[in-house]
Amino acid sequence: QAKERGRSTYQFFDKAMNAQAFEHLLLENSLRHALDRGEFELHYQPQVATQSGEIVGVEALIRWRHPELGLLSPAKFIPLAEQNGLIVAIGSWVLEEACRQGRAWLDAGLGLQHIAVNLSARQFASGDLLDTVDAALLDSQLPAAMLELEITESTIMQNPQEAAVLLQRLRERGVVLSIDDFGTGHSSLVSLKQYPLDSLKIDRGFVQGLPNDEDDQAITETIIAIARKMRLKVVAEGVETPEQLAYLRDAGCELAQGYLLGRPQPAYVLQSLLQRREPGQLPGAN
Ligand code: C2E
Ligand code: MG
Ligand code: MG
Ligand code: MG
Repeated sequence: QAKERGRSTYQFFDKAMNAQAFEHLLLENSLRHALDRGEFELHYQPQVATQSGEIVGVEALIRWRHPELGLLSPAKFIPLAEQNGLIVAIGSWVLEEACRQGRAWLDAGLGLQHIAVNLSARQFASGDLLDTVDAALLDSQLPAAMLELEITESTIMQNPQEAAVLLQRLRERGVVLSIDDFGTGHSSLVSLKQYPLDSLKIDRGFVQGLPNDEDDQAITETIIAIARKMRLKVVAEGVETPEQLAYLRDAGCELAQGYLLGRPQPAYVLQSLLQRREPGQLPGAN
């Protein structure tokens, strides 16, 4: 029957839609069932202290193991899920799963400072984020201080007043709050001060030009300076070369994340990294 439906859908849209729109439609249909079928997984990317080389945290990044299309990255389906609202349910699953995994690593003695989870704008505005966070923390028994939530400037700017209240509520619970892709959104520096933030993530776009591009130098150094003055943690994203890492470390950026230090990997791979982690083993360091 599904096959029948598939065929008539195809005939209907054959001429009217281009291939991309058709793929979109197919994806959207299978996305509706992906949660029930357990097709999502979280991969974890290490966040490393630039001074010691130690893995101090991880960022959870969703993947969709599609039965026909293989492993899909969030760019393929998160925008879709944002449009049709499925992101709220998917986001709840991400929170639960990340907290559960964080607790399991804690119980295994693989001390991490935090496990970071990305929140989408729609999830942030959904009205039940606090309940979802509370439930995930309660079910998992993960200490709130180990959960870091990443939001973007544009998510905040979509509703600045409401965001202030929500962030305050999250802060009261002891959750760590981080601005993702910092420098690419439209928040003014002044507005930063109104939000109870703990951490800024320097967007990969600025890290890419290091160590040579003077504009990228100026921007990253400014972000690091702001973070320090405001007593925020700062994490550089997308670190791919030893030169970038050395530059960031010398510029006073505490934490780094990127392919150089570890790709996003399934939980069991990250776990084995954590089990044999030794400080002082930064790639490119002697
Ligand atoms: P993000 O939160 O800024 O995550 C960083 C992205 O950069 C990840 O892509 C990561 O794999 C990639 N990355 C890390 N290091 C490097 C590097 O050295 N070089 C390059 N070129 N890329 C690097 P990914 O996993 O494809 O995720 C893309 C975006 O999708 C994320 O950007 C985030 O905005 C969103 N996303 C991922 N997981 C979730 C989720 O569970 N919920 C929501 N709402 N969004 C998610
Ligand atoms: Mg992120
Ligand atoms: Mg980012
Ligand atoms: Mg990004």
